[in-house]
Amino acid sequence: MGLIRLLLVAALIWLVWRVLRQTLLGAPREGGKTHNQPPQSQKMVRCDWCQVHTPESQTVRLQEHHFCSEDHRQQWLEKHHD
Ligand SMILES: [Zn+2]
Repeated sequence: MGLIRLLLVAALIWLVWRVLRQTLLGAPREGGKTHNQPPQSQKMVRCDWCQVHTPESQTVRLQEHHFCSEDHRQQWLEKHHD
């Protein structure tokens, strides 16, 4: 009965490979089309500073807050310092 175990291991490797690929190829490449629509499964979050909606994978997070860039996180932090 090793077949099910083999399938499970294969599925696990596939999952790890997907996560690794997404991590390595996460940043958009320069040149070419940069205005691709994000996949519909991608969750959109709103920047707490400029209110722009950004795919969650591209946001900078601070606890429960999301920001479209490190710059806006800094600005938000300065405003909410105390
Ligand atoms: Zn922003």
